[in-house]
Amino acid sequence: MDILTRFTERFGERPDGVWAAPGRVNLIGEHTDYNEGFALPFAIDRQTRAAARTRADSIVRVASAAAGFAPVEFSLDEAQPGRIEGWAAYPLGVLLILKRLGHAVPGLDIMVESDVPVGAGLSSSAALCCSVALAVNDLAGLELTLEALVEITRQAENHVAGAPTGPLDQSASLLGVPDAAVLLDCRTLAARALPLGLDAAGLSVLVLDTRAEHAHHDGGYAARRDGCEQAARVLGIGALRDLGTEELTGRAQKVLDPGAYRLVRHVVTENARVLETVAMLDSGGPATIGPLLTASHASLRDDFQVSCAELDAAVEAALGAGALGARMTGGGFGGSAIALVSADAAPAVAEAVTARFAAEGFAVPAVFPVRASAGAHRVDV
Ligand code: ADP
Ligand code: MG
Repeated sequence: MDILTRFTERFGERPDGVWAAPGRVNLIGEHTDYNEGFALPFAIDRQTRAAARTRADSIVRVASAAAGFAPVEFSLDEAQPGRIEGWAAYPLGVLLILKRLGHAVPGLDIMVESDVPVGAGLSSSAALCCSVALAVNDLAGLELTLEALVEITRQAENHVAGAPTGPLDQSASLLGVPDAAVLLDCRTLAARALPLGLDAAGLSVLVLDTRAEHAHHDGGYAARRDGCEQAARVLGIGALRDLGTEELTGRAQKVLDPGAYRLVRHVVTENARVLETVAMLDSGGPATIGPLLTASHASLRDDFQVSCAELDAAVEAALGAGALGARMTGGGFGGSAIALVSADAAPAVAEAVTARFAAEGFAVPAVFPVRASAGAHRVDV
């Protein structure tokens, strides 16, 4: 059933419009965003669509086509951020943050559907928030810039949904450009589209969705984030972004305990890898960045310790079958890995990952190519 029919069946009238926002993969630069560092995500060709219609009152009704997410209704006058349970915290979070910032937010009926796998580390949560943010921005005539919407949707995830993410996911979803990655400086929030040229080089990025649980709320993510912030305080710097690779082995190693030092080493070397990836894309093209991706995975596995058996197996199997590079993508503890492959090798890599998972007794992984795609936009329907 298409989204217009779904909307009309549920709410009795046609929507005013439909807005789409993509999920993302992060090419490189993991757990750097909340350390004010660099990241290089791209928006993927899977998206969440929100059909919406304004109401004359302050009631908001949200419904999702996805199984397991029941419709929710609430009043904008009464809802409290931090008191909303379940999936509705994402769309309602966006509305409540806008309201808190003084914007006039109307009541709305919203129906969402998505082909971004939920909870797979491809940022279905940001896709959801960003599609709703764009809808209300247009419908209420707020005229907020995409950059402003990055901050609003990030706050919605942080303060209402309680997911302490950095601005990476929202930036990719809102600012994505076809066949380009978004180079993001998470200190200044400056974002620049960086052409990838994957097609021209005969390359493809495969998502290896492990189907293993990832749960940011579970504390693993928050613990790493706290650890980084504490280390920055001990080092007397504003954020780990401020530590250069040359300072790592000097002062940092002396004053930090070994656990904190490993966290810091990941962040500092990961920032350097992002900048090197940018330089390599420019000088050698996308076929040359594979080893940087693989090094990023090793650092996340060994130093930051956010990988898991499934992610490690996916990366190993992909590399064994000829991937140029592979790494976990997203926060970790499950979710998805990506592999950079020559388009010819994609079937063999997919097969190798699937076979390895079967041999290990893991769930059947989902392996599919993704293309760097446009960010959030209004859809003609
Ligand atoms: P990820 O962003 O990696 O997919 P998260 O745990 O951050 O994983 O976000 C997943 C949550 O976002 C879901 O549990 C649900 O609350 C919400 N969500 C995402 N997409 C949808 C959707 N299409 N319908 C309803 N809820 C969704
Ligand atoms: Mg998410």
